[in-house]
Amino acid sequence: MTAEPRLQPPEAIREICRTLERAGHEAWCVGGAVRDALLGIRTLDWDIATSAHPDAVQRLFKRTVPVGLKFGTVGVLDAAGVLHEVTTFRHDVETDGRHAVVRFGASLDEDLARRDFTINAIAVHAERLEVRDPYGGRTDLAAGIVRCVGDARERMQEDRLRALRALRFAGRFSFTIEPATWAAIRESAPHLGRLSMERVKQELEKVMEQVARPAATLERYRESGALGTLVPALAAAPRERFAALDALALPGLPGRPHRRLLRLAALFAEPGVAPARDLARTLKALKFSNVEARACEELAHAVARVSLEGEGNGTVPLSPPPSDTDLRRLVAAVGRLTVPGMARLLWARASVRAPGATSATGASREARLAGIALYRRAMRIAWHDPIAIADLALDGDDLRRAGVPAGRAIGEALERLLDAVLEDPARNTRTQLLALIASGASSSQRAD
Ligand code: ATP
Ligand code: MG
Repeated sequence: MTAEPRLQPPEAIREICRTLERAGHEAWCVGGAVRDALLGIRTLDWDIATSAHPDAVQRLFKRTVPVGLKFGTVGVLDAAGVLHEVTTFRHDVETDGRHAVVRFGASLDEDLARRDFTINAIAVHAERLEVRDPYGGRTDLAAGIVRCVGDARERMQEDRLRALRALRFAGRFSFTIEPATWAAIRESAPHLGRLSMERVKQELEKVMEQVARPAATLERYRESGALGTLVPALAAAPRERFAALDALALPGLPGRPHRRLLRLAALFAEPGVAPARDLARTLKALKFSNVEARACEELAHAVARVSLEGEGNGTVPLSPPPSDTDLRRLVAAVGRLTVPGMARLLWARASVRAPGATSATGASREARLAGIALYRRAMRIAWHDPIAIADLALDGDDLRRAGVPAGRAIGEALERLLDAVLEDPARNTRTQLLALIASGASSSQRAD
């Protein structure tokens, strides 16, 4: 077998393997790192599989962490304090679609047999760089195929999460899914509700983090029936909504979007359409944290205030470009901090639909420039114009001194003044605002 230099694991991993072997055990690098290295992707997370029992691993190394002893995983800390997972060769003796009961004492080949996909079932020796690949993982890597180890149907019955993992790996590496594996994914779809939502959320997040252009993966989620089971609210979402996720890395826009959260929010945001009333419940079911859920809802509500073109029922149209006043009202309504995310989501959606768009990110040059110009205008307004009551040149005390009765009237007067200032920020001086109050003009403003 020819040695492949790109397979060389880092020294810390080789040192752990040497220690295990010196004590008479077998030690191999396995899993995602081997796969990634073979694909030429730099990888940090090397997992080690060993014939040593977890107790023996704990005895052999000075500093260990009991990461998952029940499953045979011991964390070994290297000299730099970095944790590496060392897992005892194992069989999965009992599975119910969610949990596995494992038995140690397996051989390397048996350990590889219980792994999910051929591309994840390759082992490499840390020093000799000898490769063990009993299931043809390298052939599938070269051909770009995700294929179950063994009988796809049985393997997915053992653990339904594998269906989602297959979709993710296919998206991440732009691989196709082998037909029997695809059939097993479709067959698994109705059973995915049995998975814990934490694991499902983790998978969705990994899709958002690892897959450069997630639209195709989301369409596969839909086509397989997985989306219908896991997030019914998204099963009928328009194709452009998923396509927009591919366009979210808006070239030319300043600042770095928070990719994961923005992509998640993009799943639930529809221009010109109020988010579903039970969005909060959907996000909670998906185990979003309160902070994430709130950010996501805010973005969905913000995007709903805008339509991509033409007048909508009370929405601000993006095209033709809105007036400064309309833009200020929009920024005031959604709040400064929501503006960048809202602008990115809208621009991504607009670029998917833009005339001349050849692909999700291939919006026409003019559309892209128009989007960027609009983004800059919105940001300038958000940070330079008065758009909140706190930005007014006077406050409640000033109004009370000017004779406005204390209580609700003060708040209402401030709202009316803000309205006048949103229309024309030049009005935001004490003198002009007091004059507006005195003349009662600010109240008639509303009426027309
Ligand atoms: P990632 O880049 O997402 O970490 P990975 O392949 O390393 O991908 P891990 O979840 O870290 O995925 O798992 C490490 C290895 O353990 C996998 O490569 C695979 O061999 C095995 N494995 C993980 N999850 C499963 C599963 N549900 N069923 C069977 N084997 C699995
Ligand atoms: Mg991994």
